[in-house]
Amino acid sequence: MLLTGENKVVGRYAPTPSGKLHIGNAFSFLISYLDVAQQGGFMRLRIEDLDKVRCKPELISTMFKDLEWLDLPWEGDVIYQSKRYEAYSDAFLSLERQDLVYPCFCSRADLHAASAPHTGEEIIYPGTCRRLSNSDRVALLTKKTPSYRIKVPGKTFSFSDTYQDDCSFSLLDICGDFVVRRADKVFAYQLAVVVDDAAMNITTVTRGCDLLSSAPRQMYLQQCLGLPSVKYAHIPLIVDENGRRLSKRSGDISIEHFRSDTSMTSSEFWGKLAFDCGLVDELQPFSLKELSRVANTSILKRKKQIVISHIL
Ligand code: GLU
Repeated sequence: MLLTGENKVVGRYAPTPSGKLHIGNAFSFLISYLDVAQQGGFMRLRIEDLDKVRCKPELISTMFKDLEWLDLPWEGDVIYQSKRYEAYSDAFLSLERQDLVYPCFCSRADLHAASAPHTGEEIIYPGTCRRLSNSDRVALLTKKTPSYRIKVPGKTFSFSDTYQDDCSFSLLDICGDFVVRRADKVFAYQLAVVVDDAAMNITTVTRGCDLLSSAPRQMYLQQCLGLPSVKYAHIPLIVDENGRRLSKRSGDISIEHFRSDTSMTSSEFWGKLAFDCGLVDELQPFSLKELSRVANTSILKRKKQIVISHIL
Protein backbone atom coordinates (compact mmCIF):
# COMPACT_ATOMS: atom_id res chain seq x y z
CA MET A 1 0.00 0.00 0.00
CA LEU A 2 2.74 2.46 0.89
CA LEU A 3 4.44 3.93 -2.10
CA THR A 4 6.64 6.76 -0.98
CA GLY A 5 6.38 9.88 -3.03
CA GLU A 6 10.02 10.85 -2.26
CA ASN A 7 8.79 14.42 -1.92
CA LYS A 8 7.00 14.17 -5.23
CA VAL A 9 3.51 15.48 -5.84
CA VAL A 10 1.13 12.52 -5.64
CA GLY A 11 -2.45 12.73 -6.88
CA ARG A 12 -5.24 10.20 -7.11
CA TYR A 13 -8.13 9.10 -9.26
CA ALA A 14 -10.93 8.16 -6.87
CA PRO A 15 -13.92 6.89 -8.83
CA THR A 16 -17.00 5.47 -7.13
CA PRO A 17 -18.23 2.48 -9.13
CA SER A 18 -21.91 3.11 -8.47
CA GLY A 19 -22.47 3.98 -12.13
CA LYS A 20 -20.57 4.11 -15.40
CA LEU A 21 -17.68 6.52 -15.79
CA HIS A 22 -18.76 9.60 -17.73
CA ILE A 23 -17.28 12.76 -19.22
CA GLY A 24 -17.32 14.52 -15.84
CA ASN A 25 -15.13 11.77 -14.36
CA ALA A 26 -12.81 11.92 -17.37
CA PHE A 27 -12.44 15.68 -16.95
CA SER A 28 -11.63 15.31 -13.28
CA PHE A 29 -9.09 12.53 -14.07
CA LEU A 30 -7.55 14.71 -16.77
CA ILE A 31 -7.04 17.74 -14.53
CA SER A 32 -5.81 15.54 -11.65
CA TYR A 33 -3.27 14.03 -14.02
CA LEU A 34 -2.21 17.39 -15.48
CA ASP A 35 -1.87 18.95 -12.00
CA VAL A 36 0.62 16.30 -10.92
CA ALA A 37 2.31 15.60 -14.28
CA GLN A 38 3.11 19.29 -14.74
CA GLN A 39 4.91 19.17 -11.38
CA GLY A 40 6.78 15.93 -12.09
CA GLY A 41 4.58 13.85 -9.80
CA PHE A 42 2.51 10.71 -10.28
CA MET A 43 -1.03 9.41 -9.87
CA ARG A 44 -2.50 6.57 -7.83
CA LEU A 45 -5.84 4.81 -8.20
CA ARG A 46 -8.39 4.18 -5.47
CA ILE A 47 -11.74 2.52 -6.07
CA GLU A 48 -14.26 4.10 -3.68
CA ASP A 49 -16.48 1.05 -3.29
CA LEU A 50 -17.36 1.61 0.37
CA ASP A 51 -21.02 0.98 -0.22
CA LYS A 52 -21.11 -2.63 -1.36
CA VAL A 53 -24.78 -2.46 -2.25
CA ARG A 54 -24.38 0.41 -4.73
CA CYS A 55 -20.95 -0.53 -6.11
CA LYS A 56 -21.44 -3.59 -8.29
CA PRO A 57 -18.53 -5.83 -9.48
CA GLU A 58 -19.67 -5.53 -13.13
CA LEU A 59 -19.38 -1.73 -12.86
CA ILE A 60 -15.84 -2.12 -11.54
CA SER A 61 -14.84 -4.31 -14.48
CA THR A 62 -16.35 -1.83 -16.99
CA MET A 63 -14.51 0.93 -15.16
CA PHE A 64 -11.17 -0.82 -15.65
CA LYS A 65 -11.84 -1.24 -19.38
CA ASP A 66 -12.65 2.49 -19.54
CA LEU A 67 -9.51 3.43 -17.61
CA GLU A 68 -7.42 1.31 -19.94
CA TRP A 69 -8.99 2.89 -23.03
CA LEU A 70 -8.48 6.37 -21.57
CA ASP A 71 -4.81 5.41 -21.17
CA LEU A 72 -4.58 6.99 -17.73
CA PRO A 73 -1.31 6.26 -15.95
CA TRP A 74 -1.04 5.40 -12.27
CA GLU A 75 1.56 3.84 -10.02
CA GLY A 76 1.46 1.25 -7.26
CA ASP A 77 -1.34 -1.08 -6.20
CA VAL A 78 -4.95 -0.22 -6.78
CA ILE A 79 -6.60 0.48 -3.43
CA TYR A 80 -10.15 -0.76 -2.81
CA GLN A 81 -12.01 0.94 0.00
CA SER A 82 -14.07 -2.23 0.47
CA LYS A 83 -10.87 -3.91 1.76
CA ARG A 84 -9.84 -1.16 4.18
CA TYR A 85 -12.28 -1.73 7.04
CA GLU A 86 -9.53 -2.23 9.63
CA ALA A 87 -7.75 1.02 8.81
CA TYR A 88 -11.02 2.97 9.10
CA SER A 89 -11.86 1.13 12.28
CA ASP A 90 -8.51 2.14 13.85
CA ALA A 91 -9.13 5.77 12.94
CA PHE A 92 -12.63 5.58 14.38
CA LEU A 93 -11.26 4.12 17.64
CA SER A 94 -8.79 6.97 17.85
CA LEU A 95 -11.65 9.48 17.55
CA GLU A 96 -13.61 7.53 20.16
CA ARG A 97 -10.65 7.56 22.57
CA GLN A 98 -10.48 11.34 22.19
CA ASP A 99 -14.19 11.56 23.06
CA LEU A 100 -14.86 13.18 19.69
CA VAL A 101 -17.68 10.90 18.50
CA TYR A 102 -21.12 10.11 19.86
CA PRO A 103 -23.93 7.75 18.86
CA CYS A 104 -26.78 9.22 16.86
CA PHE A 105 -30.18 7.55 16.80
CA CYS A 106 -31.88 9.92 14.39
CA SER A 107 -33.52 7.85 11.71
CA ARG A 108 -32.33 7.78 8.10
CA ALA A 109 -29.93 10.64 8.80
CA ASP A 110 -26.87 8.65 7.78
CA LEU A 111 -28.28 7.09 4.64
CA HIS A 112 -25.92 8.70 2.20
CA ALA A 113 -22.86 9.08 4.38
CA ALA A 114 -20.79 6.54 2.45
CA SER A 115 -20.99 8.59 -0.74
CA ALA A 116 -19.35 11.91 -1.39
CA PRO A 117 -21.93 14.65 -0.62
CA HIS A 118 -22.30 16.40 -3.97
CA THR A 119 -23.95 19.82 -3.76
CA GLY A 120 -27.59 19.85 -2.80
CA GLU A 121 -27.41 16.66 -0.74
CA GLU A 122 -26.32 18.18 2.53
CA ILE A 123 -28.19 18.32 5.80
CA ILE A 124 -27.10 20.52 8.69
CA TYR A 125 -27.37 18.31 11.74
CA PRO A 126 -28.92 20.19 14.66
CA GLY A 127 -26.96 18.25 17.31
CA THR A 128 -30.00 16.44 18.77
CA CYS A 129 -28.18 13.30 19.93
CA ARG A 130 -25.13 15.23 21.18
CA ARG A 131 -27.37 16.65 23.90
CA LEU A 132 -28.78 13.31 25.08
CA SER A 133 -28.30 12.51 28.75
CA ASN A 134 -26.15 9.48 29.55
CA SER A 135 -29.13 7.51 30.78
CA ASP A 136 -31.15 8.22 27.63
CA ARG A 137 -28.15 7.23 25.51
CA VAL A 138 -27.73 3.94 27.37
CA ALA A 139 -31.43 3.20 27.05
CA LEU A 140 -31.46 3.93 23.33
CA LEU A 141 -28.36 1.77 22.76
CA THR A 142 -30.32 -1.27 23.92
CA LYS A 143 -33.00 -0.60 21.28
CA LYS A 144 -31.22 0.60 18.19
CA THR A 145 -27.83 0.43 16.47
CA PRO A 146 -26.72 4.04 16.11
CA SER A 147 -24.65 5.85 13.55
CA TYR A 148 -21.71 7.84 14.97
CA ARG A 149 -21.11 11.54 14.47
CA ILE A 150 -18.04 13.62 15.13
CA LYS A 151 -18.37 16.76 17.25
CA VAL A 152 -17.36 19.73 15.17
CA PRO A 153 -15.73 22.82 16.66
CA GLY A 154 -17.03 26.37 16.22
CA LYS A 155 -13.98 27.52 14.30
CA THR A 156 -13.41 28.48 10.69
CA PHE A 157 -11.37 26.26 8.38
CA SER A 158 -9.54 28.15 5.63
CA PHE A 159 -7.33 26.90 2.84
CA SER A 160 -5.97 28.07 -0.45
CA ASP A 161 -7.37 26.10 -3.34
CA THR A 162 -5.63 25.85 -6.72
CA TYR A 163 -8.79 26.87 -8.58
CA GLN A 164 -11.41 28.33 -6.20
CA ASP A 165 -11.33 31.54 -4.15
CA ASP A 166 -12.82 32.24 -0.73
CA CYS A 167 -12.26 28.88 0.87
CA SER A 168 -13.29 29.57 4.45
CA PHE A 169 -15.91 27.41 6.06
CA SER A 170 -17.48 26.98 9.46
CA LEU A 171 -18.48 23.35 9.91
CA LEU A 172 -21.35 24.44 12.13
CA ASP A 173 -22.78 26.37 9.19
CA ILE A 174 -22.29 23.80 6.45
CA CYS A 175 -23.05 20.47 8.11
CA GLY A 176 -22.87 20.44 11.92
CA ASP A 177 -21.67 17.22 13.55
CA PHE A 178 -21.26 14.82 10.65
CA VAL A 179 -21.50 11.04 10.35
CA VAL A 180 -18.24 9.09 10.45
CA ARG A 181 -19.81 5.63 10.74
CA ARG A 182 -23.23 4.62 9.54
CA ALA A 183 -25.63 2.52 11.58
CA ASP A 184 -24.87 -0.46 9.31
CA LYS A 185 -21.19 -0.04 10.34
CA VAL A 186 -20.12 1.23 6.92
CA PHE A 187 -17.60 4.02 7.46
CA ALA A 188 -18.45 7.39 5.98
CA TYR A 189 -16.86 8.77 2.84
CA GLN A 190 -15.27 11.66 4.81
CA LEU A 191 -13.42 9.37 7.21
CA ALA A 192 -12.37 6.83 4.56
CA VAL A 193 -10.96 9.48 2.21
CA VAL A 194 -8.84 11.07 4.90
CA VAL A 195 -7.44 7.74 6.11
CA ASP A 196 -6.72 6.57 2.55
CA ASP A 197 -5.19 9.81 1.30
CA ALA A 198 -2.72 9.69 4.19
CA ALA A 199 -1.95 5.97 3.75
CA MET A 200 -1.38 6.47 0.01
CA ASN A 201 0.87 9.53 0.56
CA ILE A 202 -1.47 11.70 -1.48
CA THR A 203 -0.36 15.33 -1.57
CA THR A 204 -2.92 16.82 -4.01
CA VAL A 205 -6.65 16.24 -4.16
CA THR A 206 -8.19 17.38 -7.45
CA ARG A 207 -11.96 16.89 -7.76
CA GLY A 208 -15.21 18.62 -8.72
CA CYS A 209 -16.00 21.89 -6.95
CA ASP A 210 -19.27 20.37 -5.74
CA LEU A 211 -17.05 18.68 -3.14
CA LEU A 212 -15.45 21.93 -2.00
CA SER A 213 -17.32 21.90 1.31
CA SER A 214 -16.00 18.41 2.05
CA ALA A 215 -12.49 19.86 2.30
CA PRO A 216 -13.02 21.54 5.72
CA ARG A 217 -14.54 18.30 7.06
CA GLN A 218 -11.52 16.39 5.82
CA MET A 219 -9.12 18.99 7.20
CA TYR A 220 -10.77 18.68 10.59
CA LEU A 221 -10.50 14.88 10.52
CA GLN A 222 -6.84 15.11 9.48
CA GLN A 223 -6.20 17.33 12.50
CA CYS A 224 -8.06 15.01 14.88
CA LEU A 225 -6.19 11.97 13.55
CA GLY A 226 -2.77 13.66 13.36
CA LEU A 227 -2.58 13.12 9.58
CA PRO A 228 -0.84 15.38 7.06
CA SER A 229 -2.84 17.96 5.16
CA VAL A 230 -3.14 17.94 1.36
CA LYS A 231 -3.33 20.60 -1.32
CA TYR A 232 -6.90 21.00 -2.62
CA ALA A 233 -7.80 21.75 -6.22
CA HIS A 234 -11.55 21.97 -6.85
CA ILE A 235 -12.33 22.15 -10.54
CA PRO A 236 -15.42 23.43 -12.37
CA LEU A 237 -18.20 20.97 -13.19
CA ILE A 238 -18.87 19.99 -16.78
CA VAL A 239 -22.36 20.96 -17.97
CA ASP A 240 -24.12 20.83 -21.33
CA GLU A 241 -25.48 23.86 -23.18
CA ASN A 242 -28.64 23.82 -21.06
CA GLY A 243 -26.57 24.03 -17.90
CA ARG A 244 -27.38 20.39 -17.11
CA ARG A 245 -24.67 18.58 -15.22
CA LEU A 246 -23.19 15.57 -16.95
CA SER A 247 -23.53 13.04 -14.27
CA LYS A 248 -23.53 9.29 -14.19
CA ARG A 249 -26.69 9.49 -12.08
CA SER A 250 -28.71 10.90 -14.92
CA GLY A 251 -27.38 8.23 -17.29
CA ASP A 252 -25.28 10.70 -19.25
CA ILE A 253 -22.65 10.07 -21.82
CA SER A 254 -20.50 7.24 -20.58
CA ILE A 255 -16.89 6.52 -21.45
CA GLU A 256 -18.09 3.05 -22.40
CA HIS A 257 -20.11 4.70 -25.19
CA PHE A 258 -17.03 6.43 -26.65
CA ARG A 259 -14.94 3.28 -26.22
CA SER A 260 -17.38 0.80 -27.75
CA ASP A 261 -19.88 2.68 -29.93
CA THR A 262 -17.61 5.14 -31.72
CA SER A 263 -14.38 4.73 -33.61
CA MET A 264 -12.81 7.49 -31.53
CA THR A 265 -9.34 6.87 -30.15
CA SER A 266 -8.50 8.03 -26.66
CA SER A 267 -6.22 10.76 -28.09
CA GLU A 268 -9.15 12.04 -30.13
CA PHE A 269 -11.33 11.94 -27.03
CA TRP A 270 -8.78 13.82 -24.89
CA GLY A 271 -8.13 16.32 -27.69
CA LYS A 272 -11.83 17.14 -28.01
CA LEU A 273 -12.40 17.33 -24.29
CA ALA A 274 -9.33 19.56 -23.77
CA PHE A 275 -10.44 21.85 -26.61
CA ASP A 276 -14.02 21.98 -25.42
CA CYS A 277 -12.87 22.97 -21.95
CA GLY A 278 -10.54 25.65 -23.30
CA LEU A 279 -7.35 23.92 -22.14
CA VAL A 280 -5.90 24.02 -25.68
CA ASP A 281 -6.54 26.37 -28.62
CA GLU A 282 -6.64 23.80 -31.42
CA LEU A 283 -9.01 20.92 -31.99
CA GLN A 284 -6.70 17.95 -32.61
CA PRO A 285 -5.89 14.60 -30.98
CA PHE A 286 -3.60 14.76 -27.96
CA SER A 287 -2.19 12.01 -25.79
CA LEU A 288 -2.18 12.73 -22.08
CA LYS A 289 1.59 13.21 -22.17
CA GLU A 290 1.26 15.77 -24.95
CA LEU A 291 -1.47 17.54 -23.01
CA SER A 292 0.75 17.76 -19.95
CA ARG A 293 3.11 19.86 -22.08
CA VAL A 294 0.57 22.13 -23.78
CA ALA A 295 -2.61 22.34 -21.69
CA ASN A 296 -3.27 25.54 -19.79
CA THR A 297 -5.22 24.64 -16.65
CA SER A 298 -5.11 28.17 -15.26
CA ILE A 299 -8.17 29.02 -17.38
CA LEU A 300 -10.19 26.94 -14.89
CA LYS A 301 -9.51 29.37 -12.07
CA ARG A 302 -12.56 30.76 -10.28
CA LYS A 303 -14.93 28.84 -12.57
CA LYS A 304 -17.71 26.70 -11.11
CA GLN A 305 -18.97 25.35 -14.44
CA ILE A 306 -17.71 24.69 -17.95
CA VAL A 307 -20.09 24.22 -20.86
CA ILE A 308 -18.98 21.63 -23.39
CA SER A 309 -20.43 20.92 -26.81
CA HIS A 310 -18.08 19.48 -29.44
CA ILE A 311 -17.63 16.09 -27.85
CA LEU A 312 -21.36 15.50 -27.42
N1 GLU B 1 -15.39 9.10 -5.13
C1 GLU B 1 -15.86 10.45 -5.22
C2 GLU B 1 -16.73 10.60 -6.44
O1 GLU B 1 -16.63 9.80 -7.38
C3 GLU B 1 -14.71 11.44 -5.25
C4 GLU B 1 -14.26 11.74 -3.90
C5 GLU B 1 -13.00 12.58 -3.79
O2 GLU B 1 -12.35 12.86 -4.80
O3 GLU B 1 -12.69 12.93 -2.66
O4 GLU B 1 -17.51 11.51 -6.48
